[in-house]
Amino acid sequence: MEIVLATKNRKKIEEIKKICDTIGTDFKIYTLDDFPQYQDIEEDGDTFEANAVKKAVYISKRTGMTALADDSGLEVDALNGAPGVFSARYAGESADDRANLEKLLREMKNIPPEKRRARFVCCIAMASGDEVRTFHGYVEGVIGTEPRGENGFGYDPVFYPEGHDRTFAEMSDSEKNALSHRGAALRELQKYLLEKTDTSGDIGDNS
Ligand code: IMP
Repeated sequence: MEIVLATKNRKKIEEIKKICDTIGTDFKIYTLDDFPQYQDIEEDGDTFEANAVKKAVYISKRTGMTALADDSGLEVDALNGAPGVFSARYAGESADDRANLEKLLREMKNIPPEKRRARFVCCIAMASGDEVRTFHGYVEGVIGTEPRGENGFGYDPVFYPEGHDRTFAEMSDSEKNALSHRGAALRELQKYLLEKTDTSGDIGDNS
């Protein structure tokens, strides 16, 4: 099955490709590098799902291909769910991962260890024209007090998945992918594709 990933985030692209390899999808994956005329679109939805659907439908309609979009982020309980859908621009519109992570640590400076619960959330939308399906993945954990590790991206250096004493950034790609919100959402997608009896190429409705 040919799909195009509706993102320009290189780290996400790498992760999605690796996870798809590991779980054994038959995807031939294109990216927006193959369609340089289409830019990432603005993520102005209130939910991960709204943003993922918007991106996938936009790119599917323009390319005429099935498109996959990932919208994801970090929800911290002590910050009432922030940074949430604003995870990529927590420290400002053009903020990079480092600035966002530093802002998070500043905001959580006085929060004691037992109140540092958080989760990564991922919504993957698969669109074929106007037909869309969504798949969700979560990973619970706690936010550390200082960055540790060099792998991954975003908030990985401060996120300790539940039951682990290393951050995502201290884990190998395959360790992270087996635990992560993105891995979980893509496994749901794969389950759906395997269960689907219709082989017409129609991805079905979302009801
Ligand atoms: P968006 O989905 O492009 O809006 O951006 C998601 C943002 O959430 C990223 O820029 C990261 O800051 C954060 N994020 C999403 N997934 C991960 C992850 O797997 N590790 C670390 N940070 C993540």
